[in-house]
Amino acid sequence: MIVTVITPFPELLGPFFSTGVIGKAVEKSLIDIRFINPRDHSDGHYGQIDDYAYGGGGMVLMAEPLARAVDEAKAGGQAFVVHPGPQGVVLGQHLVESLASKEHLVIVCGRYEGVDERFVDKYVDLEISIGDYVLTGGELPAMVIIDAVARLVPGVVGQEAAVEEDSFFRGMLDTPHYTRPSSWKGSEVPRVLTGGDHLKTSSWRRRQSVARTLGRRPDMIARANIGPYLDKGVYVILVPARREVTLEEAEAIADLGASFGCERAIFISTDEAFHKELQESLGGKGKVLRSPGRAIAWIKDREKEDPFVIICGSTDRGSIHWLEAKRLGLASGRPIVFLAGEGAESFTPDPGQQVSLGPVRGGRDDRTLSCPRDTLAVILDRFFGRR
Ligand code: SAM
Repeated sequence: MIVTVITPFPELLGPFFSTGVIGKAVEKSLIDIRFINPRDHSDGHYGQIDDYAYGGGGMVLMAEPLARAVDEAKAGGQAFVVHPGPQGVVLGQHLVESLASKEHLVIVCGRYEGVDERFVDKYVDLEISIGDYVLTGGELPAMVIIDAVARLVPGVVGQEAAVEEDSFFRGMLDTPHYTRPSSWKGSEVPRVLTGGDHLKTSSWRRRQSVARTLGRRPDMIARANIGPYLDKGVYVILVPARREVTLEEAEAIADLGASFGCERAIFISTDEAFHKELQESLGGKGKVLRSPGRAIAWIKDREKEDPFVIICGSTDRGSIHWLEAKRLGLASGRPIVFLAGEGAESFTPDPGQQVSLGPVRGGRDDRTLSCPRDTLAVILDRFFGRR
């Protein structure tokens, strides 16, 4: 990946690109950092790049030297031009990921009152803010952007799995970390971390991440990929009412559930002959049982815990927002069950462990999805979709 920084103060960034993880990435040519000083493109004898603002105010960076610097950076090729500015889109992990996919990023740093707006209009693809406060120049924001982006460039961070577990990557906060000594000023490292049991350690870490995210940033749960943070299984139960599910539908639903990490799809059928036929056709992908109550009992027995049941309903009455269901399901720490199909709403398990979702709908005329497989696909994506 190439990053060109256009700044009148390249010396501000020097140590950043020769130190630590970023320094190594540059040394190994994983990122190619270039600098262009707009003063080298000024018309004046003194390398003038700024002038008084029209209408009063301070100094403003002139459009022409910046435009020439961008042209030099692109050198006839393609590049994505970013201008760090307090009025830009606020930088977040999703934006960092999209910047990391660019082959060449050009970052044009502002100074003083900012840059001539006509330059922004004609040359800048995206203005990015690093937060709601004002700095004296774009160099620190440029370093912030480059640091966050570089961590996603393969090979830059040693253990790539660690990047995924870091805060925000999956939309969750990271677990707390500890190092030696195990006892410090009367505080002990949580015992599970020193016990050497990897399964227990990863389960503890997952629970810490969940507790931290729910406690500090519950707003993040909406966008989070919660699948890797669940300690218990996820199940789909289809309760047909008017007609039996067809073999093809059942297989498609079992495959859909599996692709979102569900343990098992369970189909409810009281028709003896069909029950057998369906079970044979599903093999290990699914299970056929006679009632939703039996299915819940089977899950409880398997998971050794009462499940949290989410009824995929067809009316808004008594329903909660899916974001709230997602938060409650994650907070419950229980196995999660999605109960779908026309017969799902008449099922009444223990009220403490059950919530209902309204119909899935959208578009201009607010049409409702009626096919249980499509409805489940949307709901599973909301809960477990990967960002
Ligand atoms: N007059 C501008 C305003 O109020 O919107 C602020 C200009 S600021 C003093 C000078 C330069 O610092 C900006 O052009 C920009 O490059 C950079 N800068 C300042 N705060 C920033 C922020 N929060 N995010 C990104 N860049 C920032």
